[in-house]
Amino acid sequence: MGCIQSEDRSAKADAPAAFDVNRADQMQPRASAPIPVELRNGARVKDQNVPPAGVYLPNNNRLTPHMRSPAYVQMSTAAAITLGIMKGQMYRCACTRCLNLLLTYPEGCRANCAYCGLARHREADRDYADRNFIRVDWPAVPLDDVIDKVAGDGAKTPFHRMCISMITHPNSDADTRTVLGRWVARVPRAAVPVSILSNPTTMTRQDVRDLYDLGADIFTVALDACTPELFERTRGRGVQSPHSWDKYWEILDAAAEIFGPERFGAHLIVGMGETEHDVLALCDRLRARGGHSHMFCFFPERGSLMSHLPATPRAQWRRVQLARYLIDYRGVRLDQMRFDECGRVADFGVSRAELDAVIDAGIAFRTSGCPGKFGDDVSACDRPYGDSPPSNIASFPFPLTKRDVGRVRRQLGGELAKKGG
Ligand code: SF4
Repeated sequence: MGCIQSEDRSAKADAPAAFDVNRADQMQPRASAPIPVELRNGARVKDQNVPPAGVYLPNNNRLTPHMRSPAYVQMSTAAAITLGIMKGQMYRCACTRCLNLLLTYPEGCRANCAYCGLARHREADRDYADRNFIRVDWPAVPLDDVIDKVAGDGAKTPFHRMCISMITHPNSDADTRTVLGRWVARVPRAAVPVSILSNPTTMTRQDVRDLYDLGADIFTVALDACTPELFERTRGRGVQSPHSWDKYWEILDAAAEIFGPERFGAHLIVGMGETEHDVLALCDRLRARGGHSHMFCFFPERGSLMSHLPATPRAQWRRVQLARYLIDYRGVRLDQMRFDECGRVADFGVSRAELDAVIDAGIAFRTSGCPGKFGDDVSACDRPYGDSPPSNIASFPFPLTKRDVGRVRRQLGGELAKKGG
């Protein structure tokens, strides 16, 4: 096999392409346009200064109110449907098990990550609270209303976990502490534990310690880019964004020490130009320290600086999902696997019978993230359709049926397309 991805977009979604990876040289973000001074830093929202009144649904043709954390937080569409704040149904999902809360400010996130719908370059055309993020809208809701509802539901709550997503903003560290403190005062950790999706750029080791002392259960770092070069290109100077690979690892290392094994991890996006060996070497490095990797399949987010680029070919994504699951939950190490000259997984390092059993169980292909109440290897954070459309699911937010497993096998292709080779 060569290493060049086919540009044949007419190919069936299930069929593994002959050349099946997103290459580094093709995954180039576009440049962002200059932002007029009068539209910077949330000026439009602050000038209008419309007072918020209850729930704000994005893009509903009224002026975006002036909302700020900690009084207000945004939540995923899946969480809003689960809480009954929004009407709607999710394909093959009754609810989500993770209540993802995102800090919100008119100024928005001050970083400019190339793959992200929340990035700063969008402030010219869309207020922060109206921006799509991992493919969905994020309604804004008073924090106290959310806590009242979950605390009132008690043991009946559908949620297995809550997660506070920080952004790059001067108030983000202090407000994360406030949101966490208010939550743990009302919702017992045994009922709905809290994860932190951190933003290391503004954090110190003491901030990590404070969140641990306040009662956070798991601490994760959204590393996202899998090599220092890709990090710089997509989150650092390449896109006039403030993040640095070394700072992210400084906070990740602090989390490993302070939170300890099974209580820290990193988000990684697959398909931005890294090799499969690159991303799995990171998974192995995290696992060796006792942490876990939470994987996202690259999807060209609408309005982002990478919106013109191809989603990760399914063959590449399935191989990485499978290998990552073996590293994280089956004790397989990177040096037991073999890779081809393009860095693709050529041998998963386990017997064919074990590989078939893992594929058939299907958990490897579900959304990965912090665990809920179904099992250590089943993520509470199911992010329905956060990295793909329902027509060609990348991360399954529900248990796979036999038919789903058959589809995954066809996407893996080669010998794995059929059980037992
Ligand atoms: S720091 Fe996070 S929220 Fe902000 S632009 Fe980057 S990925 Fe998006």
